[in-house]
Amino acid sequence: MKYAAPRGTKDILPDDSPLWQFIEGACRETFELFNYREIRTPIFEATDVFTRSIGDSTDIVKKEMYTFPDRKGRSLTLRPEATASVVRAGLENNLISPDNLLKVYYLGPMFRYERPQAGRQRQFHQAGVEAFGSNDPLLDAEVIQMAVNLFQALGLKELEVDINSVGCKKCRPAYLEALKKYFQENVKHMCKDCLARFEINPLRILDCKEEPCQKYIAKAPAMVDHLDAECKEHFKRMVGWLDGLEIKYKINDRLVRGLDYYTRTAFEVVSKQLGAQNAVCGGGRYDDLVEEMGGKSVPAIGFAIGLERIMEILRKLNVESRASNVGLYIATIGDEARKVGFDLLSKARDAGISADFDYQGRSLKAQMKAADRLKAEYVYIIGEEELKKRSAILKNMETADQHEIAFDELIDNFSGECGCGCEH
Ligand SMILES: [Zn+2]
Ligand SMILES: [Zn+2]
Repeated sequence: MKYAAPRGTKDILPDDSPLWQFIEGACRETFELFNYREIRTPIFEATDVFTRSIGDSTDIVKKEMYTFPDRKGRSLTLRPEATASVVRAGLENNLISPDNLLKVYYLGPMFRYERPQAGRQRQFHQAGVEAFGSNDPLLDAEVIQMAVNLFQALGLKELEVDINSVGCKKCRPAYLEALKKYFQENVKHMCKDCLARFEINPLRILDCKEEPCQKYIAKAPAMVDHLDAECKEHFKRMVGWLDGLEIKYKINDRLVRGLDYYTRTAFEVVSKQLGAQNAVCGGGRYDDLVEEMGGKSVPAIGFAIGLERIMEILRKLNVESRASNVGLYIATIGDEARKVGFDLLSKARDAGISADFDYQGRSLKAQMKAADRLKAEYVYIIGEEELKKRSAILKNMETADQHEIAFDELIDNFSGECGCGCEH
């Protein structure tokens, strides 16, 4: 084989598409129920858009971005996530302002240069939402509710929401000091990533999954105990709204988000359906990002979902892929029959019936095999005799039932209960 897809990328083949479309369809439908509208931003942006927002100290910016100069030497980067692009687009087009509530969603590929491993690709897909213009905790609760609704629509069960507050730029510095003080003693026993995090952003230590670090992380001080009055009130009211919505949540004071720009509410939706804990969605508030990117101070909240992860779970749960099978396959014998068949094929499609045909002039046997492979629901077989009668056999491929139907009546009859125009 001469060519292969680049390392860390995967083709989504026609057999996989139905499940992808199901997931994407559920995302669109749920987001639009909550009146979020789609935004599509370019796949690449000026590199600054990401370094500015995501933060120089993060793994993404330090080692995972696809950054390259264009022909004029400008530095561009393939988007590693969408929030920064959405903020850039919203500001550039005057959609984000303190007195405008903007609710948008996106779906599409993201790019990170990571070591490819199970469930982790260099080109991967995310769906997500962003809401700008309100710091009301009601909005936090609604965004969480929307995420839960989406996973229910996808058929996931045993969902739980982990919530936390990561504070704001007023109360977080004192907490970071407390964390530093606490880890000062212990960090030498922890992994080398934690050692680096200790210097750059001790909050991220809480995110470490390495076993030796866990016992130290478990006893670290919690942000929720260091919140100022406003952040505390915000958290309390959000929890109140969640109670009202009867959403099952758990306060997880070790939960932090991977990126620098998060403030206050952080959350994760976890599915326990497959035994292990599977985080299926992560999100939170980012009240300072818009201002940091050159806008006015506009609070915001959002979440993102890794679609490959959802795909993997649905596959393990054997969710039907809802393949859109061919409704009608028209098989023909001879040139004249082929002409008539092709005409009926067009009429079927005009009537909204998914229909297919033989394009290689093959034998009837080969055509029937093709119909079978396509999982056609019905086959209509036109030969010489049929041309004389102007009627032919319509065969139900699943039940093997057969009915004779006139050429003229085929399409009209096809839209009946069982599709073949019989009495059933
Ligand atoms: Zn605060
Ligand atoms: Zn660690």
